[in-house]
Formats: sequence, structure tokens, C-alpha cells
Amino acid sequence: MAIQPIRSMKVCIVGAGMGGLACALALAKEGFENIEVYETASSLGFVGAGIQLAPNMSRILDRLGVWKEIEAEAVILRDTSIRGTDSRFQRLAYEGNFGTNDEIEGATDKELGHVDLAYIEETYKYPHMVGHRHSLANGLYNGCLKEKSIKFYFKTAVQDVASFGPKPTFTAAPRDGKPYSVTCDILLASDGIKSVARVAMLKDLGVTADIVDSHSAAYRIMLNRSQMESDPELLALIEHEGVNRWIGERRHIIAYPVSNKQIYNMSTTQPDVNFAAAPSETYTTKGSKKAMLEVFGDFCPKVLRLLNLVPEGEVCEWKLRIHEPLPTWIHGSVALVGDACHPTLPHMAQGAAQAIEDAAVLGAVLAQLPDSSPESVNKGLRVYEKIRKERAEMLVELAAASARGLHLGEGKAKEERDRQFAELRAKGGKATVPDKWADADVQKIVYGVDCVKIAQEDFRDMYDNM
Ligand SMILES: Cc1cc2nc3c(=O)[nH]c(=O)nc-3n(C[C@H](O)[C@H](O)[C@H](O)COP(=O)(O)OP(=O)(O)OC[C@H]3O[C@@H](n4cnc5c(N)ncnc54)[C@H](O)[C@@H]3O)c2cc1C
Repeated sequence: MAIQPIRSMKVCIVGAGMGGLACALALAKEGFENIEVYETASSLGFVGAGIQLAPNMSRILDRLGVWKEIEAEAVILRDTSIRGTDSRFQRLAYEGNFGTNDEIEGATDKELGHVDLAYIEETYKYPHMVGHRHSLANGLYNGCLKEKSIKFYFKTAVQDVASFGPKPTFTAAPRDGKPYSVTCDILLASDGIKSVARVAMLKDLGVTADIVDSHSAAYRIMLNRSQMESDPELLALIEHEGVNRWIGERRHIIAYPVSNKQIYNMSTTQPDVNFAAAPSETYTTKGSKKAMLEVFGDFCPKVLRLLNLVPEGEVCEWKLRIHEPLPTWIHGSVALVGDACHPTLPHMAQGAAQAIEDAAVLGAVLAQLPDSSPESVNKGLRVYEKIRKERAEMLVELAAASARGLHLGEGKAKEERDRQFAELRAKGGKATVPDKWADADVQKIVYGVDCVKIAQEDFRDMYDNM
């Protein structure tokens, strides 16, 4: 029987999110000729929200030829300011015993730490930027549309994975038609945190990995420039090309401008009360503006004025969920990608970046397979897992650790954190940053490691040792 050329293998992708689009594009750029993407939604209907475009993501997007378009709408982050709340004053606020407004303002908008981020571009060749999820998704999608080898099946949900190898088989269910069976050579499941492929894979392998309740939820808010323009302090915020993070006990808010400073993006984290009793598959809900204002009621007046701009009825709350690390991401000729295998808390701003790293490594690895046999595909996919799993899971843990540090209440740990902030101020922003995404040593690990280069250079050795 004639051996099938590697690049003519049929690769199916579940989900056209950040990971799925990047997988399709990375494979097309490597010359794969037969790529199919199945997506439940009728189009790229991304919920409006900002997204950080860190150098480890931009480097890959540039190689895939889509960075220029995404960069054109993005905002450069020149600095970050971490602003604090003082839990002594918070307690007074809870008890309704605040003194003067000066006390409130001084206590809750105090700059704990400030980091100038100019060194990021000098060090990693790409600046740290922020953008709208639409820009990122559309940039990737437009890149895919230029590739004849990629075929999209929108409005088509993958319902079940019946076989993982030698040829993966799954059921595709079009919204307007009858379900049908699809067989392929490689199946990449980038179907997000609620991945059906992950459930099917773990079941077939007879293993479990439970959802871990983060006990936290997030409001995601986008304000238009026109809503902020009449208030000089708020206008200054949207004009500021940087990140502000206001932190308090068990809660914080991160905010930055996106879309050429026409939109102010805010994302909060607070203890989950609304989802606690909800079934595990519930991820978003309409929130109450009153509840939101109460949760952050002791934050500074400027923040409260921002929150108050959210129109009644447009408060959206997200449950933040993660998983225990999975025993494996690979089964036969099937691999999990992105949130399907390493969902993360947002505090390192690396969820999409890590999904895109997965995709680019898959492109590099599959392009170097010695042949198209299912055994070689499985070995190649295990090389992908070896390069990616430990790193992605380390970042999931770092994001959780960052939240623990930011959300501290009174006690020894907070005293130590605040000592670090004081040292950061004393050293002009050049010391350990408790907000880990802004820490130069942490960035070395996140931005300074080029997984794709590792996949390109070390594939042969790793493959031979599998
Ligand atoms: C509050 C918050 C803030 C964040 N901020 C950042 C940030 O600043 N930077 C960053 O890098 N990341 C951030 N993230 C994380 C980031 O959004 C995710 O990690 C990223 O979108 C994961 O990409 P993915 O492709 O794995 O999954 P998704 O983007 O979720 O895509 C999954 C896709 O699969 C489709 N799908 C699902 N099931 C099926 C099925 N059965 N059949 C067919 N299609 C299916 C879905 O419709 C969807 O299109 C944030 C997340 C949150 C919650």
C-alpha cells in the first residue's frame, strides 16, 4: 500500500476559538493540505472583552503572518500601576464607619507598586500590548481564510469521539441537518473548558480529572470612551497606555484601554456567591449591578464611578473554573489543546497565549513527523505534550498563586507582600513584583521561552526517545 504523504493527512480541529484557529493556521503554514475546523457557533461570536497580547503570543502571531493586522488595533502597555486598598479602611467601610472622603480616597487608590514596561520590547522584541478579543480572533480567522487548505464547518457541534485511533472518528452534528460520522488521521480538540473531547478521552482511558472550584467569579466590563469623556479622571484612565490593578481583600479589578483607546476594558475577580449552588456547566450569568457595586463598595470613588457607568441589565458575571492537571493530553491520534486541557485563572493573562503556543508547537511537531503512520502520529503528539504540558500547568499554578498574593487580608503574608511593594517603590520598579505577570523574573520564563524553537530544534531527539 502506498504511504500517505504527511502533509496530505486529514487533520480535524474541534472549535474555532483562539487555539483552534491558531492550530488551523499553523498547520496550513506548514503545508498541510487537508484541514477541517468544526465550530458550534454560527460565526466567531466572541463575547466582547479585552485580551492581553504578551510577547510570547505576538512572536507566534508574527510568524503566522497575522500580527501586523492585530497590532494595528492594539494598545501598547507602557506601564502598570498596582493600587491598593487598606483592609483597615475596608473593614470600616463594611461597618459603615468611614471618616472623611479623604480617608477613603487615600486608603483605596494608593499606588502600591509601579512598573515601567518599556524593557519588555527591548528584551523580547515585542512590546506588551492589549487588544479586543475580536481583533485577535478576526486576525487569526482572516489568516485562515487566505489558506485554501482550511475548510470551516460552522453551526456544527462535535458530539462524541467514538474512536481515538488508529483513525479518530467523531460525530459532527450540523444545526440544520443530520449528524454524520467523520474519520480523520489526526484530531485536535480545542473545544474550550467544557470540552466534550476531553470528557470522552478521559472516559476511554478510565481516568478522571475533576473540575477545581476557584470559588471566584469575574465581571467583564467594556466602557465606551464617550461614557468616560466628561469626567477628567476617567478620561485620564482611558488615555493612559497602561494597566491599572486595584487590589483588595479577596477581590481585585484589572483595567486597560483597548481598540485604539476607544474602549476601556475592566475585568474583576471576586468571591463567587452566585454560581456556588449552580450546576458545574454554568459559566456565565446576568449579574446584578447593585450586587456588583456592593462587592466593590469600599473601592475608591473613581472605580465606583467606572462601575456605575455599566448600564443596568448589562452586567455579565463569569464563573472562573479550572481543572486538576490531566493525566495526559494525548490518546491515539487525538490531542487536546488550550482550555480543553489547561484552563487557567486569568491573573497571568496567558490563557489564549498558551492555547496559541500549543497550536504553534503542534504545527512544528507534525510537520517533522518521519511518516504518516498512526504510531508516528502518536509519538509526535507525545512530543507536543512533553514540550507543552509542564509549562502550561506551571502557568496555571502561577496564575492561582498570583491571585492568592493579590487577595490577601490582614496578617503576616500581607505584611510580607506589602514589604515587597515598598521595596519595589524604593527601587524604582526594579524588584520583585507581587503581581506576578509584571515581575521581570517571571516574564523571563513566560516570554523568554520560545516553545516553537524548542519544537523545531529538539524534535528529532525527543521523538527518538519517546
Ligand atoms: C475573565 C477572563 C479574562 C481573560 N483574559 C485573558 C488575557 O488577557 N489573555 C489571555 O491570553 N487569555 C485570557 N483569558 C483566557 C482565554 O480567553 C482562554 O484561555 C482562551 O480563549 C482559550 O482558547 P481555546 O481556543 O482553548 O478555547 P475557547 O476560546 O473557549 O474556544 C473554544 C471554541 O470551541 C467551540 N466549541 C466548544 N465545544 C464545541 C463542540 N462540541 N463542537 C464544536 N465547537 C465547540 C466554542 O464555541 C469556542 O469557539 C481570559 C479568560 C477569562 C475568563
